[in-house]
Amino acid sequence: MIGVMERSALVIEDDADIRSLIEFTLSSQGFTVTGAEDGPSGVELARTLDPDLITLDLGLPGFDGVEACRRMRAFTDAYVVMISARSDEIDRLIGLETGADDYLVKPFSPRELKARVTALFRRPRTRATTQPPAAPPPTPGPPTPESVQSAASSVAPADETEVLRHGALTVDVDARQVWIDEEERDLTKIEFDLLVELVRRPSRVWSREALLRTVWGNDWASDTHLVEVHVGNLRRKLGEQGGRRLIRTVRGVGYRMETVG
Ligand code: CA
Repeated sequence: MIGVMERSALVIEDDADIRSLIEFTLSSQGFTVTGAEDGPSGVELARTLDPDLITLDLGLPGFDGVEACRRMRAFTDAYVVMISARSDEIDRLIGLETGADDYLVKPFSPRELKARVTALFRRPRTRATTQPPAAPPPTPGPPTPESVQSAASSVAPADETEVLRHGALTVDVDARQVWIDEEERDLTKIEFDLLVELVRRPSRVWSREALLRTVWGNDWASDTHLVEVHVGNLRRKLGEQGGRRLIRTVRGVGYRMETVG
């Protein structure tokens, strides 16, 4: 946990006891911590302090955590951990795609918060980075069928573009572009990496743990909720085709691509 760079955190929480607990926990992780008691002052502090991490209570005076996150996302790439007292609220929030990076349910232990924060900072940050250097396709829209291989034989020679298709979905792996029919979808790095793994082997059923290891790396086996958060976001961005999601939940196991054709 010894980092070269100094890290700063903003704790937006109206309950003074919980705020102190979070501040103390993050301080012990080496963060310089500032607190805010309501939505408006929290957003202002996020703007002036430009913190690396923001914990955001859902129920706040002024405006709530969802609105605060929406406003802050206009100017910050900070990691945002949204905190709610209700687990059913968390499920709804994940559905809303609030822009948060992770979610915590109260009551949580300092240890749990620490683990989540450590995990976030180990994850490669994607929002702030520039676009991948790959050249855009010469024409708008997905690659033409002639240039496309089927997902079943997707091992591309080194110099060729790897393009995967699955129903209405087209994925240009090297250009990191995704289309549904002719419409391009804007995915985060993690969402894109998840999608590529799923589409490369469309009949495979992936456990959450296996996706974690493959997309996030080996240290992630206990953070399966991350997979749920990002698969949820991915599904919403891809939408439904013929009334069905492209990524199917396999109850008790994990995920696989919906069958097409
Ligand atoms: Ca509150």
